[in-house]
Amino acid sequence: MSAVMITRKVRKWEKLPGKNTFCCDGRVMMARQKGVFYLTLFLIVGTCSLFFAFECPYLAVHLSPAIPVFAALLFLFVIAMLLRTSFSDPGVLPRALPEEATFIEMEIEAANGNVPAGQRPPPRIRNVQINNQIVKLKYCYTCKIFRPPRASHCSICDNCVDRFDHHCPWVGNCVGKRNYRYFYMFTLSLSLLTIYIFTFDIVHVVMRSVDNGFLNTLKETPGTVLEVLVCFFTLWSVVGLTGFHTYLISLNQTTNEDIKGSWSGKNRVQNPYSHKNIFKNCCEVLCGPAFPSVLDRRGLMQEDSPASSTSAAPSSSSSSNPMSQTMKTTAPLIPNEHTPDDAKPSIAASAEKSDSPKEEDPPTPQVPPLASPETEADASLAKDKAQ
Ligand SMILES: [Zn+2]
Ligand SMILES: [Zn+2]
Repeated sequence: MSAVMITRKVRKWEKLPGKNTFCCDGRVMMARQKGVFYLTLFLIVGTCSLFFAFECPYLAVHLSPAIPVFAALLFLFVIAMLLRTSFSDPGVLPRALPEEATFIEMEIEAANGNVPAGQRPPPRIRNVQINNQIVKLKYCYTCKIFRPPRASHCSICDNCVDRFDHHCPWVGNCVGKRNYRYFYMFTLSLSLLTIYIFTFDIVHVVMRSVDNGFLNTLKETPGTVLEVLVCFFTLWSVVGLTGFHTYLISLNQTTNEDIKGSWSGKNRVQNPYSHKNIFKNCCEVLCGPAFPSVLDRRGLMQEDSPASSTSAAPSSSSSSNPMSQTMKTTAPLIPNEHTPDDAKPSIAASAEKSDSPKEEDPPTPQVPPLASPETEADASLAKDKAQ
């Protein structure tokens, strides 16, 4: 067999190792499980359609034509924010290339020396100083990187996400650094839309009841009852969720940090990201600079495949570490990406056993952070299912 290789160009998203799905040639990026996202979409579109069909014609004539117009604008805004949150890169951090991973391993080993046999090796942690606070960077055994501060590994998407907030099945994506503000605008506008529809449902029923009687009104507009029920249950959950995120934003905190108690409780570490000023915190989270995606998922990379098997088996898009292939150092290597200049990445602890198959215990430290926020926020979001 001659070792002739054929080089072909593929988009980088085809080779990304996480569990995301892509469509539109990499422009749209979501989590793999999307069932609940479709339910969200269905509930919003369904409820609004009923409102436009049953209430709007009557209200436009008897009250004001502005009512359906405003509802339509709000509806479009909600859908736009939902899609923006769901279809974008939440801030996924690329995994280390094999050479980079090897280098980090070596660095850790060199700093830690030999761990006596039978002794539990200390966790892989680096300390950095941020605003005079010591913040721990944890090593991700899956991505082979020291996660930047505030990043966490999402077990559902199987990626480290920068400024990880939580994984939200309702929007079918992680919520992180790059889509948090859209997520917040989504919950806020959905709250308004729900209140709006709920209020005008009641107004509509009352106005019609005066002429036709209550029971006749319900018979004539059967959609109204359904809408009132959906809105009633959605209202509490979505408004509650919006309130919770407003509180987090005012403290410049993530759901993940709130659940882990990163800046409270036993740690006694002050939140180094907070400006100690609600207005400044809100400005930073909601109006701060937009961060570009570091995945470059539509970029081209070369892939070598054996000539004999022509195009037979090349890319199944989910091998373990395909980023490695020929990627030309897409993005800056992560460990230092967010490390402030004054940070002293002294390797605080020593390494765990550093032989190659270290995938075993690693996920453990990472799972709670994301499992919890997810369950939490989505417990709250779960309420918004009512919508
Ligand atoms: Zn990771
Ligand atoms: Zn996720």
